[in-house]
Amino acid sequence: MNDVITWVIIIFIVGIIVFSLYFRVVELLGAKCPKCGKRKSHEVSRKEAKQEKITIKKEEKIEHYGKNQTQMGERKLFEQPERISIRKYTVPGIRIYYNVTYSCKICGELFIKSEYIENEV
Ligand SMILES: [Zn+2]
Repeated sequence: MNDVITWVIIIFIVGIIVFSLYFRVVELLGAKCPKCGKRKSHEVSRKEAKQEKITIKKEEKIEHYGKNQTQMGERKLFEQPERISIRKYTVPGIRIYYNVTYSCKICGELFIKSEYIENEV
């Protein structure tokens, strides 16, 4: 009987931690209000401001298999490659800037934040 109570308490505590972590993450995702400092805002509108050409750094992991390691099509018979090398390269990309208007849920302040996304061309 005591075990059941212990488990209920554990599940309850874990539940509270998960719940509060979830809200922490959601809060961090929101833009910070310049007036009241709270991160309780939602996006009202988004306008493209400018585009910029960039280079995006990429890495590719290459697995090297020895002569004695047979390959069956794409599937390697041996799990462990003999050697792993990392090939670094760049690809052309584009960075798109946006002026995003947010509205604060606490004080109603409207504010604009500059944000960008990066895409490969
Ligand atoms: Zn505010």
